[in-house]
Amino acid sequence: TPPLAGRVRALAPSATLALTALARELKERGEPVVSFGAGEPDVNTPEPVIEAACRALREGKTKYTPSGGIRPLREAVAEYLHTRFGLAYAPEDVHISVGAKHALFNAFLAVLEPEEEVVLFSPYWVSYPEMVRLAGGKPVVVPTSPERGFLPEREAFTAALTPRTRAVLLNTPNNPTGAVYPETVLRQLGEVLAGRDVWVIADEIYAELVYEGAHVPFPRAVPELADRTLLIGGFSKSFAMTGWRLGFAAGPRELVRALDNLASQSVSCPTSFVQYAGVAALREALGEVERLRQLFASRRAKMLAALAEVPGVRFAPPGGAFYVFLDVSPLLEAGGFSDADALARALLEEEKVVVVPGTSFGAPEFVRLSYAMGEEEMLEGIARLAAFARRRV
Ligand code: PLP
Repeated sequence: TPPLAGRVRALAPSATLALTALARELKERGEPVVSFGAGEPDVNTPEPVIEAACRALREGKTKYTPSGGIRPLREAVAEYLHTRFGLAYAPEDVHISVGAKHALFNAFLAVLEPEEEVVLFSPYWVSYPEMVRLAGGKPVVVPTSPERGFLPEREAFTAALTPRTRAVLLNTPNNPTGAVYPETVLRQLGEVLAGRDVWVIADEIYAELVYEGAHVPFPRAVPELADRTLLIGGFSKSFAMTGWRLGFAAGPRELVRALDNLASQSVSCPTSFVQYAGVAALREALGEVERLRQLFASRRAKMLAALAEVPGVRFAPPGGAFYVFLDVSPLLEAGGFSDADALARALLEEEKVVVVPGTSFGAPEFVRLSYAMGEEEMLEGIARLAAFARRRV
């Protein structure tokens, strides 16, 4: 057969999606698996959103839409960003995408020339480095440490910048660490970037899921750089809409138009009736977002209490998202595991518990546990993890 292109031969599939698929397969075979792998809320989408999608279908909203999204949804996003976070975007400054992931992918395509660099802070969400490489760019990874709450540090960031740096990716609240970047940290990063031709891509998809501290959007903390900041958000996490594939980007008009054009030549537009559902989400279901946040807050508290009883692991309470990023280095050493992959394999074999190894987040001594799951199952899973750990520590 003819060869495939180098760009896909080097491409790793999303480790988290692969793991979720494995957990589902084992469950379907009747194995008593407990999976902490989920990157999505376990509840269904709010009823008004479902209703709006059905209505749109019946009303014949089944045709192509403008590639950057329908006007009512651009308006609703602009209004939401204003009332919720005090941000001033016109509907023309908003692009509607097929999930936040699609907006991120196209953002890298829109700003990177070959070999230009994107600064990412590790631990990072698995898809960023692959997206940067697919766009022809080079990821430059700047580590953050658990001792400093996984927050970006000014000196390390400054040292990573080169004449080839074209963009920096900020993710707050953070997946996988749950870190919520305080305004002071964002301001420091902004100071370093002042006067440089560097785009800021701010992935704030977990903006609504904060339990300690407050989410401050980057363009709110650093309005001076708003003209070079692309804010990315979505419906997946806060409205339990992962399967609908709907997200948005807001920022300087020229870049937003570039995203529209990229979409027009690739996907044409986000699914028409899903966009109408998006309008209903923002106009009618914001109360559901708060209910979801409270649900996660209560699970988070129980998860942290249960984890405190597990030997050989360390963690700090994460401020946002729905993950605990667990330092398993004492357990790796005690159990003779080479890295978190080996530990995750043994945990699955012995206890039928699925965790996501930190390896693909650039943190091989950590595992990520999602608490977007039923409480009983969650506590059962932690009990099994504790039993696993006690056999070694
Ligand atoms: N950004 C981060 C940090 C995520 O964790 C995810 C989903 O896991 C996404 C973006 C993608 O979200 P969407 O479903 O809107 O594409």
